[in-house]
Amino acid sequence: MKSLGKDLRRLIPSDRVLTDPEDLVAYANDATYHVCPIGNPEAIVLPETTKEVSRVVRYAAESIIPVVPRGGGTGLSGGCTPTHGGIVLDLKRMRRIVEINQGNMTARVEAGMVTATFQEVVEKQGLFYPPDPQSMKVSTLGGNISTRAGGPRAVKYGTTGQYVLGLEVVLPDGEVIRTGSSCSKSSVGYDVTHLYAGAEGTLGVITEAILRLVPLPPARKTVVVTSAAVEDSARIVSAVIASGIVPAMIELISRGAAAIMSGSLPEPYPGGESHLLVELDGSEWEVDENSREIRGLCEGMGAVVRVIEDRRKAEAYWEASEKLYGMLLKMAKKGIVEDVTVPRDRIPEFVRAVSEVADRLEMNFDRGMMIGLSGHAGDGNMHPTIFFLRDVTEKEEEKAGRAIEELVKAGLSIGGTISGEYGIGIHKAEFIELELGKRQVDLMRCIKAAVDPKNIMNPGKIWIDGEAPGTCRTIAIQ
Ligand SMILES: Cc1cc2nc3c(=O)[nH]c(=O)nc-3n(C[C@H](O)[C@H](O)[C@H](O)COP(=O)(O)OP(=O)(O)OC[C@H]3O[C@@H](n4cnc5c(N)ncnc54)[C@H](O)[C@@H]3O)c2cc1C
Repeated sequence: MKSLGKDLRRLIPSDRVLTDPEDLVAYANDATYHVCPIGNPEAIVLPETTKEVSRVVRYAAESIIPVVPRGGGTGLSGGCTPTHGGIVLDLKRMRRIVEINQGNMTARVEAGMVTATFQEVVEKQGLFYPPDPQSMKVSTLGGNISTRAGGPRAVKYGTTGQYVLGLEVVLPDGEVIRTGSSCSKSSVGYDVTHLYAGAEGTLGVITEAILRLVPLPPARKTVVVTSAAVEDSARIVSAVIASGIVPAMIELISRGAAAIMSGSLPEPYPGGESHLLVELDGSEWEVDENSREIRGLCEGMGAVVRVIEDRRKAEAYWEASEKLYGMLLKMAKKGIVEDVTVPRDRIPEFVRAVSEVADRLEMNFDRGMMIGLSGHAGDGNMHPTIFFLRDVTEKEEEKAGRAIEELVKAGLSIGGTISGEYGIGIHKAEFIELELGKRQVDLMRCIKAAVDPKNIMNPGKIWIDGEAPGTCRTIAIQ
């Protein structure tokens, strides 16, 4: 360890190489500290340029030392946890906006830029970068790209991957490549850009991105739709989507979650078992027309509709929703947030499956262990969350594991996917073959072996293989 620090300080100014135990501990895991194993970083490097990243990765490749890229460390799958030790590359000092091109509606940005900061800068120029993971005040563009992050606005605007036109990447041998371009379309060979979008740091380090921007919508309106049951809310989501109205966001808020948030709202959520928090955006006319249509449709389905005209009040609802996970974790001893996504017309079935699993495994408030359900309902991204309200026994931990497996399988059985936005990391690795099949996972292993034959880039993620850094098997695909 001593010599690793010494070697790295020859490559990077010494104040940006950390090896003290009190510094290392801050990089041992991401936001899954309740769920995934803790890592064991041996050195942290804070690069400021692509050249510095390249120098460190080249050295790591020659010395066969794992490299784990890290953005904001907000991941919820253990992606940036250094399970095999080695070097953590903290990219947050690489946060320059290289260019905003208004005529082309694109931006070139370094990967360590915090997402919300980037959004604020482009919005001042009348432009809009829609991807909005609820961690966006801390998470980085590089982390969002590497996990193909989504967020509430995905229902209308899609997820991070859809905004990435090109990347600068440091390959696992230290070479630097540029993928894609600033053009809005390109048809040149394999889509290497989108191979890196979602690669979770296993194929190289993203140092810069070319991002697509869209015009900033001039008007927004928030609507709260309250129903007597979660299934009713789920049916309303399907009906709204089928009606052709495309809200910018539709969040599912349970009664329990609404009660927790109501303390920080100017007007509490109305009484009712389940709520949808909806944002409409577009021109003034479009927003007014859509809110009238949504009111008619939802009231026709027995819901109570409240249109929040005051922008500041509306912001309070969205801010509370953004902070919900943190508020819940404060109240519980431990929380495990899941990320199953189902086709939007199958949400009612998934909602039923969640309550069936909770009933059968006796997970409820009185037992001190329950399953809450919220989610980005507009795109079918459900976040059933297991809360431990007190210290739990080993047996109860096992029960939580069983519940996760059953929820994942319930999602898959209705055409869903095991992760809509958090990625696989460590947390979902045991389920990847269940969704993709062995052949497709083997195809991914082949790509990994070809790009990173020494397996130094974020080893131990996406699939469980136990391969040590230094070797990466190519699996024959027949
Ligand atoms: C309260 C809370 C709310 C959240 N809400 C959402 C949400 O709404 N939507 C959503 O999608 N996610 C959400 N997340 C999860 C998380 O914020 C996202 O996965 C986010 O994209 C991670 O970004 P990050 O910068 O923190 O990346 P990190 O956690 O640092 O890393 C994530 C992965 O990306 C890799 N990586 C990071 N930077 C680079 C790089 N430059 N080059 C190559 N690989 C890199 C890491 O190795 C790791 O595998 C939430 C998390 C929390 C704690």
